[in-house]
Amino acid sequence: MSKPVRVRFAPSPTGPLHIGGVRTALYNYLFAKKQGGTFILRIEDTDQTRYIKGAEEYIQEALKWSGIVPDEGPEKGGDYGPYRQSDRKAGYGKFVQQLIDEDKAYYAFDSAEELTEMREQAKKAKMPNWQYNSITRNSMKNSLTLSKDEVQAKLDANEPYAVRIKIPRNEEVRFHDTIRGWIVVNTSNLDDKVIFKSDGMPTYHMANVIDDYNMKISHVIRGEEWLPSAPLHVLLYRFLGWEDAMPEFAHLPLILKPDGNGKLSKRDGDRLGFPVFPINWKNPETGETASGYREQGYFPEAFTNMLAFLGWNPGSDQEIYPLQDLIDAFSLERVGKAGAKFDAKKTVWFNEQYLKNTENKKLAELLVPVLKEQEIEFNTAQLPSICGLLKERASFLTEMVQNGLYFFKAPNEYDEKTINKKWKENAPHIVEDLKAAFSRTDYTAQSLKEAFETYLAQNELSFGKAGPVLRVAITGSGMGPSLFDICAILGQKEVESRINKALKELP
Ligand code: GLU
Repeated sequence: MSKPVRVRFAPSPTGPLHIGGVRTALYNYLFAKKQGGTFILRIEDTDQTRYIKGAEEYIQEALKWSGIVPDEGPEKGGDYGPYRQSDRKAGYGKFVQQLIDEDKAYYAFDSAEELTEMREQAKKAKMPNWQYNSITRNSMKNSLTLSKDEVQAKLDANEPYAVRIKIPRNEEVRFHDTIRGWIVVNTSNLDDKVIFKSDGMPTYHMANVIDDYNMKISHVIRGEEWLPSAPLHVLLYRFLGWEDAMPEFAHLPLILKPDGNGKLSKRDGDRLGFPVFPINWKNPETGETASGYREQGYFPEAFTNMLAFLGWNPGSDQEIYPLQDLIDAFSLERVGKAGAKFDAKKTVWFNEQYLKNTENKKLAELLVPVLKEQEIEFNTAQLPSICGLLKERASFLTEMVQNGLYFFKAPNEYDEKTINKKWKENAPHIVEDLKAAFSRTDYTAQSLKEAFETYLAQNELSFGKAGPVLRVAITGSGMGPSLFDICAILGQKEVESRINKALKELP
């Protein structure tokens, strides 16, 4: 029987989550939900020097907003907790000791200065890529070169140390990656990475493997930047005797800059004018705020839909996939190897589609706080029809408000182009006539349209002569949704008062 599906998203709280991180979380979540498995959030905070205040809260909030809700995690708890590595500190040491006892890891006492010195010397000798490895370790200060007593004396004296993994020389490490197929690496290309430090904390590699094992993780789905670490992780599974329990790996393609020139970075957002963060991030050190999709007015489902398509495709032309549909359609087999270019225009397009597909009643509810914040008075009963008209011409809720301010208050400014070109001829006369013609209808969009058309026919006028001037008088704008719909929503009293106002204020 195959193992139950348990996957994890394992961010380090070293700053805000970039959209690449959210995509990793999303793919893990989709995979888990599709397979009836469990999605776990694990906070990897072993490197206290890189810890950034507020980053963990940010990660939790960003996932919540995106709808990527963990089944187990620091907030939710679960049977395999704690889910924060700093809270699991006590559990790592015995595995490190096991590796040392079995000669698969060793103590190294070389100071940071000594290591720098080694690298400098190697550079001078035209060997710029010096590594602590199966060859160089024989001339370094470690438990392989020092006597047992010397090592014990150093440990007793509390000398700082690192535990390094003892990478075998010239062996093959093979593992299967769902996205990339079989990967074979020779251990001679690997260095003796530090797996534990004398502050009692394991490093990322060690903690990550131990936790994946203890949390019974079945699939490791993570960014391509971790691919070079995978052979080391495979060796750790082997050394710890856990090979049979090793998860399947899937390394996701990079998200690239819009021009395809390198990885999309945190800096690209500001430079290119689109957010690279899910929600606003206020840098605790500089106080600067980097913008997020939530605050820019994106629907969470438009955001996850867009993200899912950066690296995955359903194999059909359909592009609109709300979260549940993504779950139903997702498979790792349809994740590509090649980097996916971020496309800012397409991102806006996704939001537009969700805006159009959201029911008017729901949009009206969402619009209320936006209107309140801008201190705009509104009539709740009218909001759904207003939304129905405005959503066809906007990409965001806020844009709907901007475009449709005339639904909430009479215009004070009038579109200059229309005024200069059309109003000056016989507009006042036409507008006055239409006011009278409209007053003889029941003010539904249909009857207003009919009255308008009859008036045009009787006076041998084209639409272009009468439409724009009536629109500018009522809305102040030169374009927008159907004028008759607008008039029907505003009602007779308001339409007439606006026409009177325009007649008074316009030349
Ligand atoms: N803590 C690593 C990160 O920040 C996790 C990598 C992994 O998923 O193994 O991305």
